Amino acid sequence: MAFGVVLLIKELSMEYALVKACINLDAVSNNIHVLKNIMDKKSKFMAVVKADAYGHGAVKIAQKAMQSGADNLGVARLDEAVMLRQADITAPILVFGYIYPAQAALVNEFDLTITVYNYDMAKALSQKACDLGIVLKAHLKIDTGMGRVGLIINNLKVTRKKIVHHIKRIMELPGIEIEGIYTHLAAADHSDRTYTNLQLKMFDSLLNDLKKENIEFKVCHAANSAGIMGYPESHYDMVRAGISLYGLYPSNEVDKSRVNLVPAMTLKSIITSARRVPPGFKVSYGMTHETQKETVLASVPVGYADGFSRLFSSNGHMLVKGEKAPIVGRVCMDQTIIDVGHIPDVQVEDEVVIIGRQANKTISADELAQNINTINYEIVSSLTPRVKRVYD
Ligand SMILES: *Cc1c(COP(=O)(O)O)cnc(C)c1O
Repeated sequence: MAFGVVLLIKELSMEYALVKACINLDAVSNNIHVLKNIMDKKSKFMAVVKADAYGHGAVKIAQKAMQSGADNLGVARLDEAVMLRQADITAPILVFGYIYPAQAALVNEFDLTITVYNYDMAKALSQKACDLGIVLKAHLKIDTGMGRVGLIINNLKVTRKKIVHHIKRIMELPGIEIEGIYTHLAAADHSDRTYTNLQLKMFDSLLNDLKKENIEFKVCHAANSAGIMGYPESHYDMVRAGISLYGLYPSNEVDKSRVNLVPAMTLKSIITSARRVPPGFKVSYGMTHETQKETVLASVPVGYADGFSRLFSSNGHMLVKGEKAPIVGRVCMDQTIIDVGHIPDVQVEDEVVIIGRQANKTISADELAQNINTINYEIVSSLTPRVKRVYD
């Protein structure tokens, strides 16, 4: 019995994981420091740890971020916030996403701050809070041009007046205390600054109009990573850093020279089979690849069930012995085949780097993203729980 348990623990231990996301927590610290360096000292720093910290592991990242100078945390869903609380994280947490009125007790119990999108949502939560005899803390979301959720404002004075009245009514609701107001930037990662300038101007005008009516908030915020890096005027009382926390840039159009970010994640696997095959050898489902000459094909136990997209089929590389090996044929649920014929002496259990550096070559999350026409955000946040997260 005892022997069996020991064996099980050993088998399941990180050492024997077939696919590992190795997270360098010092990189996260570094990224917070360099971002804070370009911020006004009075602006607070929110570490956005939604979607399991963009695939990096929310609890560990939240702990490290708080130790490294973050002031609070942001998540998309209530259950993400509850999970952090259950891991004894006591930092203030703002939930960006929708909250059912029926969840009001939970919000209160775990001391969370929620987002309200409009009067109706605020009213429903207010009623529930009053029934329960609690007061919910909330931030109000303003849509200055993101076009998703929140009170829609534009530059017309008449509509701004209406909005001010609307906000006044929200502020007067019992059982819900509106501590903050925020907006989200839709194009701060673009080289063209026009739209972001317009969004910030609208947000500013609204805040001014509200001030004239003696409506003020403890905290106003607007900046995502791209806002932090490119728009100092968007920092207000707090910034919300997501992708940059993990060492990735929001796009290739931002001025990367302003902050020296260090990627936190290295995604690794191993070779589980290496076989010499003849020319004309067919590979993987659908036989979409056929070898042109004799070569060595290696299997890597990573697949789309790990979040390694099937769109990488015959599209991209992995690193083996410091060399790039092309992916050949279709990515399967649990395996991907690479051609290592040009790399001498590839053996079973050799390390494979899927994202990160090996010897003097690097494959970045950006490169993977480019290959399948998406963004680095999706590459890292798609990694499923089957990928073991290891911290150093
Ligand atoms: C995800 C998110 C952020 C972080 O954006 P990044 O581009 O990753 O920095 C900030 N604010 C809100 C509301 C978000 O949903």
